[in-house]
This record gives sequence, structure tokens and C-alpha cells, in this order.
Amino acid sequence: MAMSAEKHAQMAAPGNARADGRIELVGLSRQELEDALVKLGQPRFRASQVWHWIYHRGATDFARMSTLSKDLRAVLAERFAVSRPAVSRAQKSLDGTRKWLLKMHDGQEVECVHIPEEDRGALCVSSQVGCTLTCRFCHTGTQRLVRNLSAGEIVGQVMLARDELGEWPSPPEGRMLSNIVMMGMGEPLYNYDNVAKALKIAMDGEGIAISRRRITLSTAGVAPMIKRCGEELGVRLAVSLHAVNDEIRDRIVPLNRKYPIKELLQACRAYPGAKNARRITFEYIMLRGVNDSEADARELVRLIRGIPAKVNLIPFNPWPGAPFECSTDEAIGKFARIVNDAGYASPVRTPRGRDILAACGQLKSDSVKQKRAVQAA
Ligand code: SAH
Repeated sequence: MAMSAEKHAQMAAPGNARADGRIELVGLSRQELEDALVKLGQPRFRASQVWHWIYHRGATDFARMSTLSKDLRAVLAERFAVSRPAVSRAQKSLDGTRKWLLKMHDGQEVECVHIPEEDRGALCVSSQVGCTLTCRFCHTGTQRLVRNLSAGEIVGQVMLARDELGEWPSPPEGRMLSNIVMMGMGEPLYNYDNVAKALKIAMDGEGIAISRRRITLSTAGVAPMIKRCGEELGVRLAVSLHAVNDEIRDRIVPLNRKYPIKELLQACRAYPGAKNARRITFEYIMLRGVNDSEADARELVRLIRGIPAKVNLIPFNPWPGAPFECSTDEAIGKFARIVNDAGYASPVRTPRGRDILAACGQLKSDSVKQKRAVQAA
């Protein structure tokens, strides 16, 4: 189904022009930053200095940019801004997982989650406000999509998390924000341009410097975009497979009606660089009595044969009103065993942050409700 021009316009992410007339620098590509500074009569190399302050040092105040002349700092402060999404609510789970509800300039909200490990940590980043996909087991899918996030709003989540973790400038080793997973709210391949721009900024070695090997993009299966993602970004790919036949997948991941399993797996086989070092992760949610039989496990192994892959088994995380139950430990164990015996690593993902609804598929913001409340007033 082609989306109407009108619908596209509604979904469009905001640009970098702010309500106060200044230009937001976060989210501009290096080239765009250079162009903006050249327009002010600055030499091109000035962009490297400003880039360093914004993305390596985490400065939000031009006055702090001490390698620039005082006059220039004043000019920059007049025309530009370097800002962050505002934190509407911060929560911390008993297991250390942190969740931030972030408010963008227009009042729309998304969630962002930090999952700490012993000596590293992943940030789960959102790509859209809400989601259009309506996967039956996912809380975000019950929220109507409000709009795409801009590149600045996506990379802004990483920057906000670094603020909160006190990691500016960030050490190359032992960072608590060492990995990015595009597994928050939204479908990243339905907002590809902004996601790609944001990830290029995050990967830049003179700034945030998180390498492509530490970035995972998860898709519910937008098959035609997979190749481009591999070629242009070279990040790790995760695919939310969740079922081994079209009948079940059509039901629980409705996007399957558009891009069925066969087409999706073909795109995976062709993923640039899908060799052992960069295996594709197949995510498989364990839903009791729906997709968790031993026959399902054997069929899964048959389907992915020949693809360098691992299978991440995700116990279903419940949310209020969810129409599913999690598989039994026994069923998960048997399933994992079959996949593992076939030569695929099959870790069971430990749910993190369930107590604050921060685990996979539990994210949701009230953006829609707020909008309705405003209209009703
Ligand atoms: N739209 C992308 C990015 C979201 S990633 C995608 O679908 O891949 C979020 C992951 O959590 C996906 O694998 C999703 O299928 C999974 N998930 C969603 N709801 C869940 C739930 N209730 N319990 C466990 N995993 C869930």
C-alpha cells in the first residue's frame, strides 16, 4: 500500500530550524555544518572544531568552546543552538536499566533505554514516535504513529544518555554507553534517511565514535531496504522473525503480508557482509502455544540454513491488556536446544527493566492521548 502524500507530510520529522529562529546544529551532517559555517565567512576547518565540541566534548553552550575566538562564540550563540531532548520522566529498574521519557521540541514523546552490563552497556534508541506496524505482541504497536524522528532527535537520544552517564568526553574503552541498538519505538527502515544520517553522525570517529560493529539495527522485515542499509551503513542487522510460516507471521507481524518470509530471508541472504564475523541476528519472541513448538524450532533451522546467523530467543514481555502469554521455561529450553544443536547460537534474552516497562516491546508514550486532550480542550 502506497502511502498518500498527505500521510507522508503528517509523518515528516521536523527540520533544524527552531521556533526561536536559530538553527539546531545537532543532526546536521558534517557537510551541512561546514556549509553553515562557510556562510558566516568561516574557513571549512572550523567545522571540525565545532564538531569536536559538540560530539566529542558534549558541549551545549558555545561559551565553553574555548578553541574559538570570543567573537565567533558570540556569533554562533546568536544563530545556532546545540540542544537535547528534555527528560519528562526518568526511571531506574532494580537491575540498573534506566528509561527516559524524552520530550521533543514540539511536545511529542519517545522512550529511550540504557541497559548496563558489567563493563559496557547498550542504548536502545527510538526511530519514530509510535509505530505503524501493529505487531500484535508489541505495546508500541498499540500507539498510533505520530511522526518520524529527525536525525537530530535520534542522535540526541545518544547525547542525552551520555550526559546522564557522565561520559563526555568518552573513553574509547570501558564506556557504559558502548553499543547502540535501534530497537526502541518505531521501525527504523521506515524512517531510513533520518536513521542513516543519525547513525553516520554517531559512527564518526572524531565525535561520538561508536563503530558500526557496535551498532545493531533491528527491523520487522522491510525487505527492500535491507540491502541499502548494509551497503551504506554496514551496521549489524537484527530481524524480528518471530514465526516460521506465513500464516502465523501474517497474524502476529502484519508487515509479513507485504514482505513474506521467503522474500525477507532472500534479503537476509544478500545482506552485504553477512559472513561469520557479522552474523545476522534473528529475533524470535516466545509466545505460548503460538510459535514455540519443537516443530517450529526445526522449521526455523531449515529456513535459515546457509545464512550466517544467531537466534535470539526473547521471552514475551507482558504489558497491560496484552493478548499473549510467555512460553514455559521448558518450551523455551527445548526450542533453544534444537536451534543450538543445528549449529546456531541460541541465547535466551534475559528480560531487563521489566519492572519499569523498559523491556523489549514494552515501550509506549502518551503522545497521542496528549494530542487528543489538547484538541478536546
Ligand atoms: N520495529 C523494529 C524495531 C523494534 S525492536 C523491529 O520490529 O525489529 C523491538 C524488538 O522487541 C523486536 O524484535 C520486537 O519484535 C520485540 N518485541 C516487541 N514486543 C515484545 C514483547 N512484548 N516481548 C518481547 N519482545 C517484544
